[in-house]
Amino acid sequence: MALSHRYDAIIVGAGLNSLACAVHLCAKGWRVGVFEQAATAGGAVKTAELTAPGFRHDWAAMNLSLFAGSAFFKLYGDDLVTRGLEFAPVSHCFASVFDDGRWMGVSTGPGETRARIAAFSDADARAWDRLNADFPGTAEYVFALLGNSMQMHVQGRLLAKALLRKGFSWTADLVRLLVSSPRKWLSETFESDQVRATMAAWGMHLDFAPDMAGGAVFPYLEAMANQNFGMVIGKGGADTLTRALVARVEATGGEVHCGKRVARVLRAGGKATGIALEDGSEITAGRAVIANVAPGGLMTLLDGQSGDAVFDTKMARFTHAPGTMMIHLALDGLPDWTASEELKKFAYVHIAPSLDQMARTYQQAVAGQLPDEPVLVVGQPTAIDPSRAPNGKHVLWVQVRMVPGEIRGDAAGIITDTGWPTVKEIYADRALDMIERHAPGLKAKIIGRTVVSPLDLEADNPNLVGGDQIAGSHHLSQNFLFRPALGHATGKTPVDRLHLTGASVWPGAGTGAGAGFMLAQKLGGK
Ligand SMILES: Cc1cc2nc3c(=O)[nH]c(=O)nc-3n(C[C@H](O)[C@H](O)[C@H](O)COP(=O)(O)OP(=O)(O)OC[C@H]3O[C@@H](n4cnc5c(N)ncnc54)[C@H](O)[C@@H]3O)c2cc1C
Repeated sequence: MALSHRYDAIIVGAGLNSLACAVHLCAKGWRVGVFEQAATAGGAVKTAELTAPGFRHDWAAMNLSLFAGSAFFKLYGDDLVTRGLEFAPVSHCFASVFDDGRWMGVSTGPGETRARIAAFSDADARAWDRLNADFPGTAEYVFALLGNSMQMHVQGRLLAKALLRKGFSWTADLVRLLVSSPRKWLSETFESDQVRATMAAWGMHLDFAPDMAGGAVFPYLEAMANQNFGMVIGKGGADTLTRALVARVEATGGEVHCGKRVARVLRAGGKATGIALEDGSEITAGRAVIANVAPGGLMTLLDGQSGDAVFDTKMARFTHAPGTMMIHLALDGLPDWTASEELKKFAYVHIAPSLDQMARTYQQAVAGQLPDEPVLVVGQPTAIDPSRAPNGKHVLWVQVRMVPGEIRGDAAGIITDTGWPTVKEIYADRALDMIERHAPGLKAKIIGRTVVSPLDLEADNPNLVGGDQIAGSHHLSQNFLFRPALGHATGKTPVDRLHLTGASVWPGAGTGAGAGFMLAQKLGGK
């Protein structure tokens, strides 16, 4: 596609937030150009044949539930469906396997999850009933909090509504849930260690190890949302979403240019006026430059100085979470889980057997150590959507949580190398041995394997610093009003007409497209 050079808005990076932002601005009549450094659009939402012909692997994100439940989808979903977006619904959402051979899982079927919990504890089954009964009332406020702009007048109104309608004690309990650690909330709610561990694994999808304040809400929401609504993944691959978004942008006058790294934001008189590409060409934007980059990337685009030293310090203090390693496998068949044949139906099987194991693995990764026993998220997309692999074959999407971006040692004392290019295959064997213990024969089923180290993730997408899949820690000091920093949670920067968006900005990581859509509404109107 030829460059038009007459843009109202230029968006740096073609991630999900950028594309959602572009869709809405185009709908409001803006001429939008999106410039992406990678060869294809999508950022963390891409699918490719990574192992063998005919096997389609989600490079990063696999679970599109946040998108399906988003305000953006409500407005544009029907149109995106006409452009090819298709979801595959999941009713057996997530499970955990334990060293004693037992398992626990959350499915949508009436009573199914309850019965599994009751096998561990009757009291926990009753707690599950109470949580489900309370969920609609709680969800209304939690989803409103997460789905709205982080501005005092907006969130203040929500707080006032909660106080007025639900009363002080209910509202205080909700705030307590929001600031609790997973361990605190899970220990108060359930008595079974296995039930607690099953839910706590969701904190590890972000950087909420069991003892991190502010992490309880993620296990809570995933458990409740999955029980009540299930999940969705992309039919044929998560890129069904990216392709539909790009098609919509282009059909409404926007442009998406890949293979174009943005080197600098052009400024004149304190205003952003356009961008300079790495090849030296300059492109102007009449109304806005929108950067879907991590704070460090923003400062690079500004040659290290925004003109506001306080802002620059805030951006320099932005902290990234530990990294992720991905293992993509092409398989002859799904893993034969010894705990139960039923596990073959689940989208995710977690190997995260206890709160203490999760706490340990997080701490090891933060300390630069390769965890002796990482948390594994074993995604089985072809259990839900067989179209991603040749007939009878499967793909496995294994997320290794968490690993250090920079290796200082091995907590198991075995791996002496510290370079990811060589360590990744050795460390992948450690992870696969862990799966093999719960699903003997897995290794014999492998037809193809591709291991993606944290540095490979960052090389593909500079926002994932050190392989940080959530583009910045979500701990309380960097969430809500503080994402990416106080005063900038709406993407405002000190440079007039320059805006920040993406997973580093409120409401943070995930496929909900919240930051991009909210910014587009702020700039272009609702
Ligand atoms: C391994 C992994 C697994 C995940 N799994 C899930 C999941 O299952 N479900 C879920 O909800 N979320 C998941 N996430 C998180 C979620 O995918 C991301 O938070 C979300 O997609 C981020 O979208 P974004 O638009 O903010 O940015 P990104 O996807 O980071 O896109 C930013 C884009 O900007 C480009 N860019 C950066 N700098 C420049 C530059 N200077 N010039 C040009 N282009 C530039 C990058 O190449 C990239 O394409 C996962 C993330 C990862 C990494």
